[in-house]
Parts: sequence; C-alpha cells; structure tokens
Amino acid sequence: MAYTVPKLKDFSPAALDKAADKLLAALDKEVAEIKTESDGKTFRDRWMARKNGILTQVNDLWLKAAPKDAKRDVGQRVNELKARVEQTVDTTLDHIRGGASSKGVPVGRARARDSAFQDRVGTGSYAECLDITLPGLRRPLGAEHPVIKTMNEMVGVFRNLGYSVQEGPEIETDYYNFESLNFPPNHPARDMQDTLFIANQESKPLRDRLLLRTHTSPVQIRTMEKMKPPIRIVIPGKVHRNDPPDASHSPMFHQIEGLAVDINITFGDLKGTLDHAMKAFFGSSVKTSFRPSFFPFTEPSAEMLVSCFICGGSGRRGSEPCRPCKQTGWIEILGCGMVDPNVFEFVKGNGYDSRKVSGFAFGMGPDRIALLKYGVDDLQLFFQNDIRFLRQFA
Ligand SMILES: [Zn+2]
Repeated sequence: MAYTVPKLKDFSPAALDKAADKLLAALDKEVAEIKTESDGKTFRDRWMARKNGILTQVNDLWLKAAPKDAKRDVGQRVNELKARVEQTVDTTLDHIRGGASSKGVPVGRARARDSAFQDRVGTGSYAECLDITLPGLRRPLGAEHPVIKTMNEMVGVFRNLGYSVQEGPEIETDYYNFESLNFPPNHPARDMQDTLFIANQESKPLRDRLLLRTHTSPVQIRTMEKMKPPIRIVIPGKVHRNDPPDASHSPMFHQIEGLAVDINITFGDLKGTLDHAMKAFFGSSVKTSFRPSFFPFTEPSAEMLVSCFICGGSGRRGSEPCRPCKQTGWIEILGCGMVDPNVFEFVKGNGYDSRKVSGFAFGMGPDRIALLKYGVDDLQLFFQNDIRFLRQFA
C-alpha cells in the first residue's frame, strides 16, 4: 500500500514523532525500490511536486491544520522533514544518474548511509547534527626513518646477546669526549676529529670546556662511572663533527658503540661477538676479516671488514664492477679493539682495575650501513626530510 499523508487529530509531540517516523519509513522504502531513472523521476514528483506532492500535503494537512498553540512546534518539524526529504531525493537522483557523487554506490547504500539521521529528525536537532556521511580526514601513518631503522636493528642484535642500551648527552665536556678516553691535551689524535666547540669556554679549565661530542665513546666512561663490572652495553646516538656536507659526510651523523668488560675478556671474545653480530645483521653467509688499526682508547685496535653483501664477495655484479666494495669483495664496517688500560685508570675507583678486568669496544656508523643496505648513493638524502624519498623505506 502506497503511503498517504494522514490527517492529524492529535498534535502532541509524541503523535508528531510517530507521524514523522511513518513518513520517513515510507520514504526509505520507496528509495529502496527505485531501479531506473524514470522510477527516480516519478519518486521525485510524488514527494516534491508543488501541486499535491507529499511535502505539499504535509504542509496543508499538518501545518495549516494545526491549532494555534502547536503551530510553532509543527512548523519546525515540517521544515526538518522537508529538508530530509529534499536531501534524500537529491542523493537518490544523483546515484540513479551515475553522477559524480555516486561512484557506483547502489541506491540502497545511500539510504543506509543517511539513516543515521533518522533518529535525529524527530528531536528537532537535525540542523545541528554532524554530517557523518562526509569522508573522514586521512592521517598518513608514520614510519621509521631508514637510519633509525638500521640503528634499531643493529641494537636489537646486541640486545639479544644480553647487552643493555645506554645513552648520554650530545653536549659533552672535553674530559669525557677526549681526556678520559686517552686523548691527553695536545695529543695529535685530537686533530683527527674536527670538533665543534661551544663558544666562550676559554675561561674554564680545559677539561670542563663544552663541545658537541665527536663520538658516542663518552657514554662508555659515564657508564663505567656508575656501573661496576661486569658490563655489556651498546650506545646508539648522534654525534657532530665539523665536516662540510657532501655525499658521504654530514656535520651530524650517527654512531653505535659497544663495550664489554669482565674478567678474562680476550680478543677472541671480540672476534666471536662481532662475527656473530654481522651474520645476524647482514645474513649468515657473510664472512668477517680484521686488520690492524689505531684508536687512542683501544690497544690493540682493528678494523673489521665484512664480505660484500651486495656482490657476495666476488667484487662484480654480473658484468659490472661492484662499486660499494670497490671491487675488493670486502666492506669496512667498524673499528674495534681491546680497551686500553689507560682508559680503565679513569674509572679505577669503581672496580675497573686493569690488572683484574679487561674488555673490548667497537664502534660503527649506521648512516653508512643504511646507505649500503638500501643502495642510496648520497648521505644528504637521509637528512633533507623529503617525504617522497623517505616513503620508499616505509
Ligand atoms: Zn661488492
């Protein structure tokens, strides 16, 4: 039975709600039955025709017939119904015509999306209610920066070996950055690092002057000052040097250092630990190799190389020479060595007696590892915050 607008005898709010509900239920039912464009036109005329359309009848039978004291309330409800019907008719016709807003959504769906309004219509709050049919704001998900991701993965390898993570300040004193690490004043090794000093420190004694740390090694001393041996720590962080930015240098870059101190720690422990870590990080097929080097805070010192994980150690990629390993089949990945007894002297009071304990330390550059791992040829790309570049690693 098609819907007809009833005459009302009772104009109480409850009776008006009931009548409005019936009308809207009829509206939804008719929308669901529309299949063709001509159905849509008939539907529009039936509800909106000026002469004898349902809305006109509502106006005549409900509003005009209402007693004086109910007119205001009835008028408000009629206006709300009118808005609701007009909107439904518009959306329905849009969908039927395959208009820009339809995107192939079936008519029934449009009705369902609108149905959340129904409950509000009778309460007089339609005009203020939130249009939940509008598309939501899409907030893009963030992702780890490739350098941070590399650091976290490397730190994870050492955490699995029982190492704890330590951090320290980026603004350091000369004492922690150099002196306690066996770089005495005027030691030529200080020239190896172009240090960024904090201005106006000349009035302070040298060891108290502030600078931007040039390596994460100060955290080794800071940790040994507060923790007695044995310790196994890994230190990720930012460091700074006065290097002009280019494809392989940046005034700000990252380091990961590690330190293990206990009784009877030998160079064999160093080799075994680092060989395991490189296999865990780069894959079990990589080989490691050590060659002698020099660092002020370790003795003996070594550089560790891993077999090139890009060309598999062959030095060639197909017919092309392998550039990352410069055709040698090996990539230098970190510096390491046995902690120099002179370094333990600075923390002797906390149980680090070089006659009783020994240890090894290592440090590596996650920026360079990330460059190699992701095949990026310019370090600056990591720090320019171009989302088009960074998105590739998400
Ligand atoms: Zn290679």
